[in-house]
Amino acid sequence: MARYSGPVCKLCRREGLKLFLKGKRCGTEKCTFNDRKNPPGPPPKRKGKLSGYGTQLREKQKVKRIYGVLERQFRNYFEKAQRMKGITGENLLVLLERRLDNTVYRTGISASRAQARNIIAHGHILVNGRRVDIPSYQVRVGDTISLHDSLRGKEFIGTNIEMAKGMGLIPDWLEISDDGKSAKVVKLPTRENVDIPIKEQVIIELYSK
Ligand code: SF4
Repeated sequence: MARYSGPVCKLCRREGLKLFLKGKRCGTEKCTFNDRKNPPGPPPKRKGKLSGYGTQLREKQKVKRIYGVLERQFRNYFEKAQRMKGITGENLLVLLERRLDNTVYRTGISASRAQARNIIAHGHILVNGRRVDIPSYQVRVGDTISLHDSLRGKEFIGTNIEMAKGMGLIPDWLEISDDGKSAKVVKLPTRENVDIPIKEQVIIELYSK
């Protein structure tokens, strides 16, 4: 499973917004973006507006970084989105939302998508009672996501779900069980469920060249 393993706060500075890649730390004063908003690296020689291509590239990079996918995989999602019925940009975001690591993050089981990926890769997540260790697994309506016994009782898990529930962060396509130990996919996510400012049309323009 290829993934980016470099410093992540740098990515927020590069994209000029908080991408929430570090879990709980992102919501605290320890977030480095609060004090340092300049992009990493030496200052640009020429300041000014980004070109059309620059804007498209930044938008694509932002989405890839938020969902933690690399170029090849992202392009595969785009190609799949193109083959689907409906608007390609919206299909692309829905495919990303349906990833198991994103779903686990949305339930509040993990504090970030990166943590969700870790939990999944270590075999702590069950889908319909069976262990699934593939973070890119696409969830379907009716799937039930639960924790393997190895993770039950871990304090941080319960706290995260309660926090997410209390703050109304659980999207309407997921239903958390009363005991907070599992989540059911009650419908597929839609464009409206993507709560991040993304101009997906710009990404489609980039790939359609
Ligand atoms: Fe981005 Fe989170 Fe780092 Fe802040 S703490 S810069 S939001 S990854």
